[in-house]
Amino acid sequence: MAGHSRSAALLHRRTAAILRGLHKARPQARVELAYRSPFELLVATILSAQCTDARVNQVTPGLFQAFPTPSALAGASPAALEGLIRSTGFFRSKARSLVRCSQALMDHYGGQVPADMEALTTLPGVGRKTANVILGAGFGIPAGIVVDTHMARLAHRLGLSRQTHPVRIERDLLGLVPKRERIFFSIAMVLHGRYVCKARAPRCHECALSAHCPSRDRLAPPPPRPHQGRDRG
Ligand code: SF4
Repeated sequence: MAGHSRSAALLHRRTAAILRGLHKARPQARVELAYRSPFELLVATILSAQCTDARVNQVTPGLFQAFPTPSALAGASPAALEGLIRSTGFFRSKARSLVRCSQALMDHYGGQVPADMEALTTLPGVGRKTANVILGAGFGIPAGIVVDTHMARLAHRLGLSRQTHPVRIERDLLGLVPKRERIFFSIAMVLHGRYVCKARAPRCHECALSAHCPSRDRLAPPPPRPHQGRDRG
């Protein structure tokens, strides 16, 4: 038990240090999807599956001009929608999700995005991860922590969770990150994973969290090999 509480204390200290590092490195962390309302954030988040935020931001202005409300999107023809979102990939299923999601908003929530985890996750195309994005960034409600591929990778590398299932990783993180920090932590960690702690080539030498990261030495690329001089003669 003593060992258990020692390691729990260590994890809490490490999490606090990580939060300090993130605040220093990314004091203004914001999601990179462009949106003006929870509805636009919901649409953009659905489109961001398997796609970069930058690409989503290229299509959403045209999409919101053509279909500015849940009511307009609920009545959209899949073909018209597919043409507008094609470049985000998986456009057929995304078009279907957007229409069905908007129809559900009209049928059950008076055309409003509900500010509630349980209600959000009943919407087609919306899982817990998307719901956490909408609640946190859209409504300012720290219901949970967003666990996407970046967060999962960082939670492992930073030794904050050994779990592989996103819900279990989130449970571990919720036990470590104070509620008032959940929204910032969700956004800042995802950005840190996108730009610094990259999947294949983490930039440990410029990482604000490296002093607290158990993976730092393990993942740092080996020093460059001395030149072999193969091109003699
Ligand atoms: S030190 Fe390296 S592995 Fe650890 S969080 Fe930073 S970039 Fe990722």
